[in-house]
Amino acid sequence: TMQNYQAPESLLQGKTILVTGAGDGIGRVAAITYAAHGATVILTGRTVEKLEKVYDEIEQAGGPQPAIYPIDFNGAIDDDYQQLANIIDSNFGQLDGVLHNAAQLGQMGPIESSHTGTWMQLMQVNVNAPYLLTRHLMPLLRAADNASIIFTSSSVGRQGRAYWGAYAASKFAIEGLMQTLADELENVSNIRSNSLNPGATNTAMRRLAYPSERPTNNPSPEQLMPCYLYLMGNDSLAVNGQALDAQKK
Ligand code: NDP
Repeated sequence: TMQNYQAPESLLQGKTILVTGAGDGIGRVAAITYAAHGATVILTGRTVEKLEKVYDEIEQAGGPQPAIYPIDFNGAIDDDYQQLANIIDSNFGQLDGVLHNAAQLGQMGPIESSHTGTWMQLMQVNVNAPYLLTRHLMPLLRAADNASIIFTSSSVGRQGRAYWGAYAASKFAIEGLMQTLADELENVSNIRSNSLNPGATNTAMRRLAYPSERPTNNPSPEQLMPCYLYLMGNDSLAVNGQALDAQKK
């Protein structure tokens, strides 16, 4: 199964992969893991110091030299994404994968008492940013031998749950974006698009959402990496339009 996938060490050799939210949590570990399997990783996120730490870790481990591109998805506009695509094109001339990982939890609570501004902001980061990034990166991805786009979902992106508000709606939107894109890509291109629900994972976001939980009861991001590797590497070439789970239910 995907959860038991054993990636060859050279799985991502020669590939250039962009990871959003690469400074912390699952994105951080995914970036480090991709680099350890040979990928040149473009680290994006909003806190530069965190990205620099990940950069150093990859360099110290002897991985291909990564790149840092700070971007705050809350304020970024269309032109910022075009600029990012231009910089990737001129610096690397290629892009073979995107892990849309960055997201915010937002304000939990009933829809009835939610704040409009908070809702809008969360949609900006969790939905509009992955949309804009994908659209502007498509020309680069089309030019790749093959490319993988991974959207990050959640169990509340597949079944709504009380008090998960904008976050749940944003993850449903991500599934819709993934499915629509995957259907457009079916049989006509070298690009695949899937969503991955990491499941309960010991990160800052999870601790915020479940303050009473014992953090170490949940798997660490490292434990999910077989799925993240499988979907990014060439062993998943035939997988498109799937909503997948990194943990067995
Ligand atoms: P974390 O909160 O640990 O990390 C989220 C990352 O996203 C951080 O690097 C953060 O940057 C970045 N980010 C947040 N807001 C912005 C923004 N406005 N612009 C740019 N970057 C931003 O979360 P997880 O690692 O737990 O979550 C990763 C993904 O997995 C998310 O999509 C989440 O919804 C999903 N997920 C997580 C689960 C879990 O149990 N952990 C369960 C189900 C889904 P910074 O550090 O600078 O704030």
